[in-house]
Amino acid sequence: MCDRTFRTFSRMMLGRYLKRCRVIYQVRRHYSFLPDDVKSLRAVVNPDVSKIRNIGIMAHIDAGKTTTTERMLYYSGYTRALGDVDDGDTVTDFMAQERERGITIQSAAVTFDWRSHRINLIDTPGHVDFTLEVERALRVLDGAVAVFDASAGVEAQTLTVWRQAEKHHIPCVCFLNKMDKPKADLSFSIESIRQKLKANPVLLQIPVGSGRNFTGVVDLLTNQKLIWKPRSIGDDGRTFESKPLDHSDEPELLQEVNEARAALIEQVADLDDELADLLLTDFSDNFDAVPSIKLQEAVRRVTLARKGVPVLCGSSLRNKGVQPLLDAIVAYLPNPSERHHDLVRWYKEDLCALAFKVLHDKQRGPLVFLRIYSGTLKAQTAVHNINRNSIERMSRLLVPFADQHVEIPSMTAGNIALTVGLKQTVTGDTIVSSKASAAAAARRAHKDKSTGTKHGEHASVVLSGVEVPEPVFFCTIEPPTMAKQTDLENALNNLQREDPSLKVRVDPDSGQTVLCGMGELHIEIIHDRIRREYGIETHLGPLQVAYRETVLHEASTTDTLDRTVGERRHVVTVELQVGPADLSSTTASCDLAFTKEVEGQLSKELKDAVENGVHSSYLQGPLLGYPLQGVTTLIQNVNMEQGTSPAMVSACVSRCMLKALRLAGGQVLEPVMSLEMTVDEEHLSSVLGDLAQRRGTVSDIQGRHDHKLLLATVPLAEMMGYSTILRTITSGNATFSLALDTYEAMNLQDQNILLKRMSGLL
Ligand code: GDP
Repeated sequence: MCDRTFRTFSRMMLGRYLKRCRVIYQVRRHYSFLPDDVKSLRAVVNPDVSKIRNIGIMAHIDAGKTTTTERMLYYSGYTRALGDVDDGDTVTDFMAQERERGITIQSAAVTFDWRSHRINLIDTPGHVDFTLEVERALRVLDGAVAVFDASAGVEAQTLTVWRQAEKHHIPCVCFLNKMDKPKADLSFSIESIRQKLKANPVLLQIPVGSGRNFTGVVDLLTNQKLIWKPRSIGDDGRTFESKPLDHSDEPELLQEVNEARAALIEQVADLDDELADLLLTDFSDNFDAVPSIKLQEAVRRVTLARKGVPVLCGSSLRNKGVQPLLDAIVAYLPNPSERHHDLVRWYKEDLCALAFKVLHDKQRGPLVFLRIYSGTLKAQTAVHNINRNSIERMSRLLVPFADQHVEIPSMTAGNIALTVGLKQTVTGDTIVSSKASAAAAARRAHKDKSTGTKHGEHASVVLSGVEVPEPVFFCTIEPPTMAKQTDLENALNNLQREDPSLKVRVDPDSGQTVLCGMGELHIEIIHDRIRREYGIETHLGPLQVAYRETVLHEASTTDTLDRTVGERRHVVTVELQVGPADLSSTTASCDLAFTKEVEGQLSKELKDAVENGVHSSYLQGPLLGYPLQGVTTLIQNVNMEQGTSPAMVSACVSRCMLKALRLAGGQVLEPVMSLEMTVDEEHLSSVLGDLAQRRGTVSDIQGRHDHKLLLATVPLAEMMGYSTILRTITSGNATFSLALDTYEAMNLQDQNILLKRMSGLL
């Protein structure tokens, strides 16, 4: 791919990424103007757990996540002015500002209050390059808001994040945004939630007016009509009229509300036995008379049990419907004590917390965001990091209140805290008060297991780690001068602690530092952060695809190493067999086995030496030096003379492995991505034609409104800079997401071309 195309693509994606961070900047800009009553809320640092909501917002790009978040922060009192997402300057402002302050652009959580509840809004990035960040964020959330463009319904990225939320059993509320658009379509959106997300939408509001005349909503639970009447240009929507629906209202609206309310009561009663009983016993002659509070409680139970998802509508840009959305977050999404974590039972009153984000601040060093599951976190105390098996001292404890980090002495379960002083903690680590408390929790977990309680099988006193996907792209990175090499290494170490999906290794042949990441955008952002946050202008080599290698058939061989080092003679003979394993999964790893005789004859030390030799050969395949996948090795014989060192055994095994792998016929495996694309009908054929040239295989094309949803698999090597190309062929009328599907064997012709290219013959 040409360098320029890549840079254009990167700039565009970087812009989108920065927009995500912009809300935080807006908060910083306006915080100093906070009204006093809001500031005083900061005093309540440890609210009652029933008043905490840890939530995330998930959305497809452009659905209105940024705008909705800004409105939430504004109405809750944490920002003074409403921002305009379409004002491009702010992104530039933001970067300049950040550069000056020398701090990181990312933020993990914003804390604000709404109706005496503490809302911790945890950032969930939408781009697929950040799947790991999404996964990480979802683990610390208790609930989520899914924002949709009401004219588009469910789009590809939301589908991906929704599936992840489902995996973590996170209750959700849906917000149909952009109801002011002429093409906004309530029933289509509801249907797409039902069909695409396989969820059960529970409609709680009916829009009043449509398109430009959308003025508000009728709350079906209370029969209140909420109308936003702009009094002047630039009205911020802070005040709105709320009055009961009555006979002066339009008959069509009255009828629509009556029907929708009856349908709602019936639907919720079907899903909730308690409401069904109440209706049959107390309101059998008139279901409609059921008190709204009873209905609300039933909707809450249904939401928490994930039997249904409340659906609300509004227009964030036009400042309509956001306050009821905040009310719904408080009313329907769970507080931390309503979520079930085994660890809470095992740790009881002892501290158990998860580090879900690490940031580096020039002045304060690493800042670690913790979600506290049980016990109390106290400043100025030592804590035990189970994953690193280390004791660390936490100097300060802060609440991430907008940008003003408020220092507090302690923090209780259910909250999100920002800690200073944890120097070794990496994203994903579990923090407890001491080794002894981890041991006590382990004993309780073990007891659960032996008494066969249903949680017992998963007994582990560490919060299960997030699966780190394999990086698919890599490129070399070089400092401007050798003098900067150490600074670059420090920067990369810090960045890796923040982001476990970033891998850094040193090429054994060239000695160059190599960055491995999840996508083009991921690597470009790392590059940009090194420049901006660490002041190092690095040079990136061309982006390359992370291929793998495997073998085609079985091969046995033997090798003897006879070497004299100093006075000592080392003689060892190894006989082994390599062969292909099952390649069906992306994670098909390489195995190692010993024959029974060898197993009985080798000491633990020598077995380790053999294993080292085999595993080091798995790191570099014989064809192009890519890691091996799907290979099994059987050690058939190891014979050595007395005095031979384990290091020589390892060396002999490696040499023998290389011989055997060459005999077994090399095969390059390439990463194949699953592609999900939304495209309008008009451009579908050009997209399909282009995909065919990229060795793409289309598996399904689904109709949706006037768009198509295309599902395909495509080799990653063909997708460099695809974003820019797709924009050109569809005039910007398509969006897509890519995720690693599998590694597939390349055909002989393509493999030969690749081999020639890699050896510089093409
Ligand atoms: P994000 O990518 O999900 O964060 O979406 P943004 O909040 O950046 O919004 C994307 C675009 O949609 C911007 O041009 C917004 O001005 C626009 N937008 C957001 N909310 C609404 C809305 O309620 N109505 C309309 N018509 N446009 C909106």
